[in-house]
Amino acid sequence: MIITVASGKGGTGKTTVATSLALSIAAEKPDSPPMFLDCDVEAPNAHLFLKPVFEQRREVGILMPQVDEARCTHCGKCAEVCQYHAIAVLGEKTLVFPQLCHGCGSCMAVCPEAAITEIPHNIGVVERGRTPQGIPFARGVLNVGEPMAVPIIRQLKTDAVPQPDQHVILDCPPGTSCPAVASIQGSDFLLLVTEPTPFGLHDLRLAVQVGRELGIPMGVIVSRDDGKGYSEVDDFCRAEQLPILLRIPFERVIAEGIAQGRTLVEIRPEYSRRLWDMFLSLETAGLHTSTKG
Ligand code: SF4
Ligand code: SF4
Repeated sequence: MIITVASGKGGTGKTTVATSLALSIAAEKPDSPPMFLDCDVEAPNAHLFLKPVFEQRREVGILMPQVDEARCTHCGKCAEVCQYHAIAVLGEKTLVFPQLCHGCGSCMAVCPEAAITEIPHNIGVVERGRTPQGIPFARGVLNVGEPMAVPIIRQLKTDAVPQPDQHVILDCPPGTSCPAVASIQGSDFLLLVTEPTPFGLHDLRLAVQVGRELGIPMGVIVSRDDGKGYSEVDDFCRAEQLPILLRIPFERVIAEGIAQGRTLVEIRPEYSRRLWDMFLSLETAGLHTSTKG
């Protein structure tokens, strides 16, 4: 089963849930620990909690246009077709701006002089290793200033080949834009982490829309639940028939422990059992192991 842990906004406790869910499954199934993929390639931080030793590193690149000035007539057709304004004709010069280019190839396709070729451009890396519990761990890291997170996420997922009965926990980028959608696609279950605040509810609504569009079953974990009566998240979940699978209280000891790089199951060991029970309830609900990605 591929479980993607996501949230409409950052800072809700998504990585806290994802890392502890992986640890709770590994504790119950030490012979077949889950695979963990950190797809939050712009700010990966799951390694701070799971502490893998990285053994492999692979560069990820896209193809970027290169202009042969000897052939270029400066007609401007490439600049007209580029919706990202990544190529421009300035007098007798045609310039490519690598930080804006999405490598779509349109400029090369329309150039009447065949003056554009494509060259590889590195945008980041995928790193693989194993945690002390034996969890196969992989993460993508986007180079600073690069705009294209999706190719790294796709490479990370393509390289991840779980064993037939091995589960996969995927830590999704926050938000609902292309990197989040690329991460969620192919999942068997979408675990949405939210907090009981108006902001949390607003972003939960957006995340649920994405899940519905992709046709993926969903459940909700309410994090930082301070019990102060903001009931709208519960009301929304009830109306949308979204099960609230777990609540994590808003406690100083949890916040301080996480700030020190400790996992939820280290700080509050009873959550290992709770997360495992939640996982079993998803399995028995009819969600089966899948290697689609
Ligand atoms: S389309 Fe080709 S010939 Fe025209 S400006 Fe661009 S690179 Fe030069
Ligand atoms: S490859 Fe696409 S994004 Fe990059 S400069 Fe050409 S048209 Fe623009």
